Amino acid sequence: MANYIDLHTHSTASDGIYSPTELLHRAKEVGLRVLALTDHDISDGLEEAAKAAADLDIDFIPGIEINTDVRGGEVHVLGYFPDYQQPAFQSVLKVLRDARERRGQRMVELLNEHGINISWERVRDLAQGSVGRPHVAQALLEAGYVQSIGEAFDKYIGNGRFAYVPRYRLTPENAVRLIASVNGLPVIAHPIDLPGLDELRDWLPALCEAGMVGLETYYGPYTGEQEQALRALADEYHLIPTGGSDFHGPGIHPTPLGGRYVPYEAVGRLKAEAAKRRGKPSPTFELPPPVQEK
Ligand code: AMP
Ligand code: FE
Ligand code: FE
Ligand code: ZN
Repeated sequence: MANYIDLHTHSTASDGIYSPTELLHRAKEVGLRVLALTDHDISDGLEEAAKAAADLDIDFIPGIEINTDVRGGEVHVLGYFPDYQQPAFQSVLKVLRDARERRGQRMVELLNEHGINISWERVRDLAQGSVGRPHVAQALLEAGYVQSIGEAFDKYIGNGRFAYVPRYRLTPENAVRLIASVNGLPVIAHPIDLPGLDELRDWLPALCEAGMVGLETYYGPYTGEQEQALRALADEYHLIPTGGSDFHGPGIHPTPLGGRYVPYEAVGRLKAEAAKRRGKPSPTFELPPPVQEK
């Protein structure tokens, strides 16, 4: 049976290749019936996606992905059904995106200092909304400094490489609280890509305490063994096991759109939890003062 659910995708609003409308058309082509759009730090693609989904008779789930940095790695937090129009939420997203701009400029400066000539203007042009390292990678690719996006990360902008600059330091717990503050459902994305499964075990209690409700279990390239380990953790902590491809466009991440089987349970449980929260008062979130950026 073909897969019909994908709960993790990106559009041109962040670092995806396809516009929200194009993404939904691709989803239809591959037979998807439920799709979530989860752009990085931006909700600008959601309305267009919802409209295209309605036209194509696809069940659309609004989402977002907030990237945070931790010592030794990254934690990405997905949020489903956030009440994203709330002004306070939009202003936090704006702070995160402004920080992405400064960081992008700094990465370009570091590359320039090493004789690699790409311009910030080109990077900014490649990004229609939220700027990210993939746009820097694209500029490096265009200028012929690398042969693939992956090579740009491996050589220049991956964590620990010379042109890597960390993001604004929102802690994972605060990303969870931010999403919960607009009645969204916080889910830890690709949990094994954090420093590792052992760290995840150590962090789960605090993340659950902060309001996490799900764990991305059926993730693009994860093996059956990894899936089982995550499923066991999800059950132990009463978290909703979600999943998806993390599709950004052909050849960017290894999994094609709809390329991972996600059980309907994920959708059913997310919807039930969202329905419980709808219209209820949510915990407030205040952005802590920024940690000094390098
Ligand atoms: P940023 O949020 O700007 O730090 O960029 C992180 C994004 O870069 C991730 O969400 C991925 O989409 C992408 N990314 C990270 N590592 C790689 C890689 N090795 N190859 C391709 N894309 C990557
Ligand atoms: Fe991305
Ligand atoms: Fe991610
Ligand atoms: Zn993603």
